[in-house]
Amino acid sequence: MGVEVLSTDAMSGASDALLTVTDLRTHFHVGEHVVKAVDGVSLTVHKGKTLGIVGESGSGKTVLSRSIMGINTAPNIETSGSVTYNGTELVGSSRSTMRKLWGAEMSMVFQDPMTSLNPVVKVGRQVTEHLRSHQGVSKSEARQAAIELLKWVRIPEPEKRLENYPHQMSGGMRQRVCIAIALACGPKLLFADEPTTALDVTVQHQILNLLSQQQRERDMAMVLVTHDLGVVATRTDEIAVMYAGRVVEQASTSTLFDDMRHPYTQSLFWSIPKTSEPKHTRLSAIVGRPPNLAALPPGCSFAARCPYAQDVCREQAPELQPTEDPSHLFACHLPVGSDEGRRALEVNVQLGLPQAKSAALRATVAGGGR
Ligand code: SF4
Repeated sequence: MGVEVLSTDAMSGASDALLTVTDLRTHFHVGEHVVKAVDGVSLTVHKGKTLGIVGESGSGKTVLSRSIMGINTAPNIETSGSVTYNGTELVGSSRSTMRKLWGAEMSMVFQDPMTSLNPVVKVGRQVTEHLRSHQGVSKSEARQAAIELLKWVRIPEPEKRLENYPHQMSGGMRQRVCIAIALACGPKLLFADEPTTALDVTVQHQILNLLSQQQRERDMAMVLVTHDLGVVATRTDEIAVMYAGRVVEQASTSTLFDDMRHPYTQSLFWSIPKTSEPKHTRLSAIVGRPPNLAALPPGCSFAARCPYAQDVCREQAPELQPTEDPSHLFACHLPVGSDEGRRALEVNVQLGLPQAKSAALRATVAGGGR
């Protein structure tokens, strides 16, 4: 497939659940409309393991991680379901309960470091204030700890860098500072929400490698949120693919890449550049746009863009169901690799649907249905 994949024991039950999300829903009430940004998501994050959450913009992945962290608190947001962290229920928890967990137990690295850091406060004070407020250490102890943290995240001359304002650093350096702040209190769970989107390609790799290294060294669990299936291919134990607020496929990373069943996962996979393909090979963009979450169509939300869609898809919403492997779940009536799926694709090619013609071409190049 041209993408290196981690082998993992995450799905074998060898590790313990740290975070369990059950039927989580986050709905935004906007005027007369209800935007179902997260709509019935269930998943588990195991101690010391990495879960990738993948989907396009608007799939609900960022709202999901913010809901789990308890930072979606505007009055027009309704959250229901259950999130248990180490046995503690978080949905409906008080602000003071969440404050005890933030930083010390779970923390987050956001997409854009420039908006996470205060532009008019020196970096050193931002790191030390975080340490002092969460750990109650003295000023000099906090400064020493801040220097150590900056060294951990590979910032050269940390003593000097503490005196910088964020705008005096490069984008990569700023994101390293954000990672240092997120790691400052030794969390057991780190959410990294598109942590490299604002950075150039070389720095993206450095930051992702840094996160993976820190995750391993600290035996910390991590949720890596991204639109890029290629990013999670080598850095996660398990992947949940989201579309229109729901998980549409979930499996261990190796299983997902070896046996993807959902057409949306396949479309994301085909949009990754691969070293095995000849130079100048055109990437496959996914036809159309994600649906309006305030007015979802009946049936499958992906039907308007799906190369395989038939009437059954437009009439009945598919449920998430297991394959022969109970830890591999997908929600599709006509899955990739099935005889019904192949027939559906042929019908849509005959009808001249552009997404079907493009999928048939890609399947031929790939040498099979996937
Ligand atoms: Fe949805 Fe049907 Fe496509 Fe499956 S085949 S993703 S059910 S539209």
